[in-house]
Amino acid sequence: MTYQNFTIDTDDDGIALITWDMPGRSMNVFTDETMSEIDQIIDQIAADDAVQAAIITSGKRGSFTGGADLKSISGMFDEFQAAMMKNGEAAVANLFERSGRMSRLWRKLETCGKPFIAAINGTCMGGGFELALASHARVAARSAQMGLPEVKVGILPGAGGTQRVSRMMDTQGALQMLMKGTTLSAESALKMGLIDIVVDDDELLEAAKAMLRAGVSPVKPWDEERFKLPSGPVYSPAGAKVWPAVASLYRKETSDNYPAAKAIVKCVYEGLLLPMDTALKVEQRYFTEVLRTTEARMMIRSLFVSAQALAKGARRPKDVPASELKTIGIIGAGFMGAGIAYVAAKGGLNVVLIDQQQAAADKGKAHSEMLAGGLVAKGRISESEAGALLGRITATTDYGRLAEAGLVIEAVFEDRDVKAEVTKTVAAVIAADAIYASNTSTIPITSLAATFPDPERFIGIHFFSPVDKMPLTEVILGDETGDRALAVALDFVRAIQKTPIVVNDSRGFFANRCVLRYMNEAYDMLVEGVPPAMIENAAKFAGMPVGPLALNDETAVDLSYKIMKTTMRDMGEDVVDPRHFKLVETMVNDGRLGRKAGKGFYDYPEKPAKKKLWPGLKTMFEQQDPEAIDFEELKQRFLVTMALEAARTIEEGVVVDPREADIGSIFGFGYAPYTGGTISYIDGMGTAAFVALCNKLEARFGERFSPPPLLKEMAEKGEIFYQRFNPDETSTKVA
Ligand code: NAD
Repeated sequence: MTYQNFTIDTDDDGIALITWDMPGRSMNVFTDETMSEIDQIIDQIAADDAVQAAIITSGKRGSFTGGADLKSISGMFDEFQAAMMKNGEAAVANLFERSGRMSRLWRKLETCGKPFIAAINGTCMGGGFELALASHARVAARSAQMGLPEVKVGILPGAGGTQRVSRMMDTQGALQMLMKGTTLSAESALKMGLIDIVVDDDELLEAAKAMLRAGVSPVKPWDEERFKLPSGPVYSPAGAKVWPAVASLYRKETSDNYPAAKAIVKCVYEGLLLPMDTALKVEQRYFTEVLRTTEARMMIRSLFVSAQALAKGARRPKDVPASELKTIGIIGAGFMGAGIAYVAAKGGLNVVLIDQQQAAADKGKAHSEMLAGGLVAKGRISESEAGALLGRITATTDYGRLAEAGLVIEAVFEDRDVKAEVTKTVAAVIAADAIYASNTSTIPITSLAATFPDPERFIGIHFFSPVDKMPLTEVILGDETGDRALAVALDFVRAIQKTPIVVNDSRGFFANRCVLRYMNEAYDMLVEGVPPAMIENAAKFAGMPVGPLALNDETAVDLSYKIMKTTMRDMGEDVVDPRHFKLVETMVNDGRLGRKAGKGFYDYPEKPAKKKLWPGLKTMFEQQDPEAIDFEELKQRFLVTMALEAARTIEEGVVVDPREADIGSIFGFGYAPYTGGTISYIDGMGTAAFVALCNKLEARFGERFSPPPLLKEMAEKGEIFYQRFNPDETSTKVA
């Protein structure tokens, strides 16, 4: 038989090598067609007397599969919603049936009577790893990475993942891995018992064959009578040690915001009490239940579908040819410039890194030496790869070296005059078609572009710190920025593997505008006398990764002070709440500048002691009785104030595509991922419900919660953002 996506070669020993290699795709994914073909292949292998065993691998270099095609899951949501309107019961039954397809398929493979080995040659995620777990043995290439990341997009491994992992390793470890969606290196998967052997990449197939020759049972341990669970039965002295701790682990990891994580715990708990076939049914039931939650719908849409579309350049002007960037220039080898140099060199670009003094430029390059060294120590790259990466960075004071750069990024002091001077010097030496970008965090791009001879070639590329870790960049269009500058900026962002959002010029652009709201709300709570610990906890329970006071310490309290003063100077005294100003000014005058000073809203004792909220904070304001404070309302205030600001940026045309507000908020400042982002938070509850919530908060806390006219109008018309600002229509819209 021949297949569209697979080839099968059977050798003289009766070992069938099944190679998965989807034509026209860079990665293998599960589509209806691949699933049907796998189904037929299992039948073929089981029936063919000439075949004793099978190896399944991928023909794609460095990758086995990216997993389920989440776009098709996203489409399933839409179909499901439409079907629900007609006949709820039938719709749910249909969803249950469809969502169990892969699970049934892997069980069929597992019980087909002949041994299958998964030869994992590279990235193997989600459904692909579940296929490997269902196989009778697993060999992984040393460079391979694998995992079940479903929980990160709001769902759970629904094709046996929860059941097989928890039967192959200890319960606590299994739950950690499943609830965090951890990506594992081949070595760690081996240590956890999820992989049988790890070999050098080029020995993969030989190793798999050798294993088969040595004998691999076609019956899985859990289908044998005497199978024992790794952590013992649930109701046993061993189980009694494990399970009581699980509730606190779950709370700690999720703050009870993620239905998928809760369902994972239930799947494992209930599944371990049952034989495999029934356990898989239980998993399928929870999978179907989770698929129906708002959280799953919003997370898949934002964190998978939109994130991918934006990373691939949804906003890139289509008619500009691909830029062939080889070398970039960076001016300013300080905190940010050094970080940008590293990610650019890691992305394969040559970097000319310039500062005023050679020592400063060298110090900037030393940052890359430190990070590359760390990767070598962790075994993530080889010594020679690290050497090549560093070899691509030239630290210098010589502006003449910029002649070869197709893009120059300025990251000097946040000072208009210094930037103007640098811009002029660079403009005099770069190629006539080179693009110039500023990494400014506060100065409007249009005004900076005025100091450059050709504002069409001027753009903002705003990075977040630490640059090597943060996945987002904001690309900012000045009034005169041209399409080619945008295309080059987006090509660059893609080369360094970050996700861009494209925004129009505005004070604070997108992310910082929203983050300032977060911190301001915390100032308001402090002034009201909400205990500081309650403020931080409310934010974390709302799903934020870092409390607003801790975040303020990280970004520096004196920076907040500076921003307040600049805003007052530019926009008038009354735009900053005097109580906020006094609070921040007092902190700065006391030297409480944040983590860098060892004291801010928190005190930072010597390690290993942990940071602690500064006790003096409580004495600055009369404290309310915690019992009298509505904790849920504190959580809402944080989420609503940032979502409102995001809605304002759309109303003002700063952000034109709701996907960018969602991705910008999750990737830029960790906005409660289970909501799908600031705009999906509004859409998820419905605009009318959100406006009602704003009205309630406005009545209690003032005008800052007043919904803007756009939201009121949308609420009246029953519109949501993803309809009114349809991403498919806005995707190529630039300004
Ligand atoms: P920094 O003070 O760490 O680095 C600035 C560097 O620029 C210094 O090494 C300095 O020697 C160099 N420099 C100054 N004048 C120069 C000149 N004329 N020619 C060459 N080099 C010169 O500052 P930073 O935190 O890296 O910030 C740089 C820019 O990035 C600022 O515009 C800032 O607003 C922006 N930014 C900062 C952050 C952040 O978190 N720090 C985040 C996003 C954007």
